[in-house]
Amino acid sequence: MRNLLVCVFGILLGAPCYAQSALDGPFESSNPITLSGTVVGVSSWSGTHGPETFLVFDVRDSAGRPQRWASRVAATAPVQRGETVLVTGFLSKKEATLQELLPYSAVPMLAPIASAHRILRATEIRGSDQAPVISAPIFRITTDEFWLNLHHFLYVLGRAEARTNDSTRDAVAGAPREAERGLKNLTGEERRVWAESVTAYAKGLSLKDAVRDAPMPAVTAALADAGDAPTLTSAPIDAATHEILERAAPIYRKAWWPAHRTANLAWRDSINTLVAAHGQSILGFITRVYGMQWPADGYAVHTSGYSSFGGAYSSVRGVLVISSLAESTQRLNGLETVFHEGMHQWDNQVYAALGAQARAIKAQVPPDVPHALIWVTASAAVRQVEPSHVPLVDALAIWNLYSSGAPGPMSRLKAPLEEAWKPYLEGRGTRDEALRLLLEKIALVK
Ligand SMILES: [Zn+2]
Repeated sequence: MRNLLVCVFGILLGAPCYAQSALDGPFESSNPITLSGTVVGVSSWSGTHGPETFLVFDVRDSAGRPQRWASRVAATAPVQRGETVLVTGFLSKKEATLQELLPYSAVPMLAPIASAHRILRATEIRGSDQAPVISAPIFRITTDEFWLNLHHFLYVLGRAEARTNDSTRDAVAGAPREAERGLKNLTGEERRVWAESVTAYAKGLSLKDAVRDAPMPAVTAALADAGDAPTLTSAPIDAATHEILERAAPIYRKAWWPAHRTANLAWRDSINTLVAAHGQSILGFITRVYGMQWPADGYAVHTSGYSSFGGAYSSVRGVLVISSLAESTQRLNGLETVFHEGMHQWDNQVYAALGAQARAIKAQVPPDVPHALIWVTASAAVRQVEPSHVPLVDALAIWNLYSSGAPGPMSRLKAPLEEAWKPYLEGRGTRDEALRLLLEKIALVK
């Protein structure tokens, strides 16, 4: 392991270590191992990246020789030098290079230590007489929310019936065909009730924006809470929506829910595997470049056969709904999407940060800039761990869309982002310098 250099330790360097990603490189995501060792160095704190602990510990190999390991866990672990610990986590997939271990340009500024021979991406560090310290989740993915799934299926079918512009987008275009197939297994009466339900949505809720138009965010939040309850009796939603959903429920449960639930479970397993392997690296990157905090217990992610025209959204009520059926949310696209939707919860803070820079230079903040920053940053974060990933903003031709009520397509922001934000993602300058330069360059776009 000649190339292995491991970041760190405030205690050894006398400097704070902000290399959240340092030990999150190309790690296994299955078959965790548990090692028993003696703590050689430890630094544990709660900072802008949330709680974290870096640990160096010695393990005796089968011949009794000490083998030095380094580890990191996203939790504070009150263990001390000399203490015996049990560390559970994932091995790196191969001999890691410095580049893989320290993907961020800021990190090499820290003097590396070469004393650790092996690294473990820890999920748990347990002291000799402690309860286990378990890494906090980044996402908590739910798959059983029957009412939330029914509501979104009716929502996209209603938009198709109302012929909204976005009902032909890839993430939702297949819904009417899927509905047709399910109708074949229903009675005439069931088909009639289902058609009435879709039409009621087409004239009502389907005309609303899922992210911000009342009552959509409140309805979605209430239905997420209702889970898979047999009835909606106590859900805080209006009587009309309540009645539509209750009437449609047995029909949906019979014709479409089993397939949607199966898709939700498969999506969860696929994304959980990717998040276990890469989540901490991606989270470290985005929280560092934004200078913002992720919630300590992560975000709830609500899977639904269908979501909105984009395949995923993040409401003003903080409810993240992601389609388990859309191609744009599968595999690495899904990994980019879950972080993208979580980052939307920073929108107000990002507007504020942009506004502060705009005032200083007497510029405007176009309404789609926060969204453009998310597209570029979330995809760059995924590309740090999987360089083959094609950013969704390119793959789905998002640049051509008018986003967030902007006066033109997002493509007008592309060159300014390349010139002002990308160098910052690569480690140059500060966030606010990059935002100011970005606004200056956008102001010059004709
Ligand atoms: Zn978005």
